[in-house]
Amino acid sequence: MDNCIFCKIVRKEIPCNKIYENEDILAFNDINPAAPVHFLLIPKLHIDSLVDIQDNHQNLLGKMLLLVPDLAKEQGCEDGFRTIINTGRVGGQEIFHLHFHIIGGRERLPVMIHQG
Ligand code: 5GP
Ligand code: ZN
Repeated sequence: MDNCIFCKIVRKEIPCNKIYENEDILAFNDINPAAPVHFLLIPKLHIDSLVDIQDNHQNLLGKMLLLVPDLAKEQGCEDGFRTIINTGRVGGQEIFHLHFHIIGGRERLPVMIHQG
């Protein structure tokens, strides 16, 4: 995906503050953090969105999820964190390369969605 900003980060055409990398997965700090800890975990493979995942992504997605608690703890989320996958227009997705937000810090996060 030539013009995808996260693919450019994977290809090192755009710098990032990397916190983890393996053959298939990259994690880096969000450029506009919503909390003291806010990093993004992405597959190196371009997948537009959560609605585009396929059976053959099962292994990759499982590996991503398994990394979340270890990386969160490593980044200072000792007592919990929030994992968000914004999806599509209604979900407020801005970058159409699948990513998990991992958000936390020392203080309790605000409620995610206000009712009423
Ligand atoms: P979305 O709304 O698509 O779930 O979130 C996209 C996230 O990517 C936003 O939190 C935004 O701050 C972050 N972001 C956008 N461009 C860049 C970038 O070039 N580098 C980094 N590190 N984060 C980015
Ligand atoms: Zn991409």
